[in-house]
Amino acid sequence: MINFKNLYDNCTGCGTCVYLCPTKSITLKKNSEGFLYVHINTNTCVECKKCIRICHQNLELKNTDKQIALAALSKSKKLRRKSSSGGVFAEVAKHIISNHGLVAGAVYDADFNVIQILTDNLDDIHRMQGSKYVQADSYGVYEKIRQTLGEKDKNILYVGTPCQIAGLLSFINGRPSNLFTIDLICHGVPSPQIFKNYIAWKEGKLHKKIHSYSFRNKSAFNRTGFISKLYLQRKCISILAEEDPYYSDFLQCKNFRECCYQCKYSDRKRVGDISIGDLDNPDVVAPGFWGWEALSTVIINNSHGKELWNQISKQFFVKEIDLSEEAKYNRNLSKPSVRPECRNDYYLEMDHEYFFDQRQPLLHKKSLLFKIKRMIPVKVKYCIKKGRLR
Ligand SMILES: Cc1cc2nc3c(=O)[nH]c(=O)nc-3n(C[C@H](O)[C@H](O)[C@H](O)COP(=O)(O)OP(=O)(O)OC[C@H]3O[C@@H](n4cnc5c(N)ncnc54)[C@H](O)[C@@H]3O)c2cc1C
Ligand code: SF4
Ligand code: SF4
Ligand code: SF4
Repeated sequence: MINFKNLYDNCTGCGTCVYLCPTKSITLKKNSEGFLYVHINTNTCVECKKCIRICHQNLELKNTDKQIALAALSKSKKLRRKSSSGGVFAEVAKHIISNHGLVAGAVYDADFNVIQILTDNLDDIHRMQGSKYVQADSYGVYEKIRQTLGEKDKNILYVGTPCQIAGLLSFINGRPSNLFTIDLICHGVPSPQIFKNYIAWKEGKLHKKIHSYSFRNKSAFNRTGFISKLYLQRKCISILAEEDPYYSDFLQCKNFRECCYQCKYSDRKRVGDISIGDLDNPDVVAPGFWGWEALSTVIINNSHGKELWNQISKQFFVKEIDLSEEAKYNRNLSKPSVRPECRNDYYLEMDHEYFFDQRQPLLHKKSLLFKIKRMIPVKVKYCIKKGRLR
């Protein structure tokens, strides 16, 4: 009798084994925390071990080529305004779709589930833009990608967390030349259920329906835009990440899927053709380069990624950076997020009516200095800092 404990414990919920099991003995089911995990029907399982062999957690799919690391910023103000960092995703997606290709990325559905869709519609790019700090459902999109890959004249771009990219590569068993993959530098994902509970709690407090939600919103006063926006029928509410219980818990790594704390993809060696993330320390990593803007870290991991980057590089302001230096600050390029002790019982009370009321956001009382700093435009802060650094 096979012991499936390791498969279950390391499962990231990608869905590959569900498709590939020859006897259809595997399904994905929500666990008590609201994450999707494999469930095996031992009555129909024939113990072929295929699920164990093809699970990306048991494969080595990282690139080994020499990497090139860059700081990048889209030249289009419009594209980068809605993007989390420098607008790399939107520029690449626009290029692929404009050349008759398709793009797979994450969007919200009407019930605040985050799902991955495959599209050839340029209008869908803005729905995909912006980080959604909750686990996206990749089940379903892999099969659509596999079918479309058969049309050799069409390029496909798949953007997702490294575990999702690895799941797809295992699913299609290779790296076809018309598939480009971009992985996100990723520090972990909360469960879809806790995000939905949070939205319901917020609606209860506001006595209003939330129509849409976005996690990252830049302004003249906030470079990186760790501010959420809640769109109600007639108004929009902005909340600083540090003042919000869900966002604060996310930033403090309190509510991640268990496997995120041992993530093998929190490493400089990457699984995607290109990797993208937030370049958080421009003064040190890319001095003198657009330091008042939210910049993207771009890592080109193989020749296929280089081929794609060469097609779009003219759309960006670019500066080459030292990957080891960036990895010092962008910690998930070297190690997984640390599991805090409070993770043990984080999800136990998530269905309690007052769960979010009882959580302490990072910053529940604003200091006067904080309030003053918030009122200074980013560019002015940058100039003051530069003067100090000189
Ligand atoms: C859960 C999560 C954790 C992250 N952690 C880090 C980190 O620790 N360090 C770091 O440098 N960067 C991190 N990032 C990446 C960063 O926030 C930006 O997404 C990235 O820099 C791309 O920015 P952009 O301006 O090019 O694109 P954007 O316009 O922001 O495009 C975002 C892209 O990410 C995809 N996406 C959004 N949400 C999800 C999701 N939940 N699952 C899968 N794909 C999604 C969209 O489909 C789109 O393709 C994280 C992103 C996510 C989603
Ligand atoms: S293949 Fe994907 S769904 Fe199956 S066990 Fe591995 S991570 Fe989980
Ligand atoms: S061992 Fe084979 S039959 Fe059993 S669940 Fe895994 S893939 Fe399916
Ligand atoms: S931290 Fe690792 S396991 Fe968790 S979502 Fe990101 S890539 Fe996947």
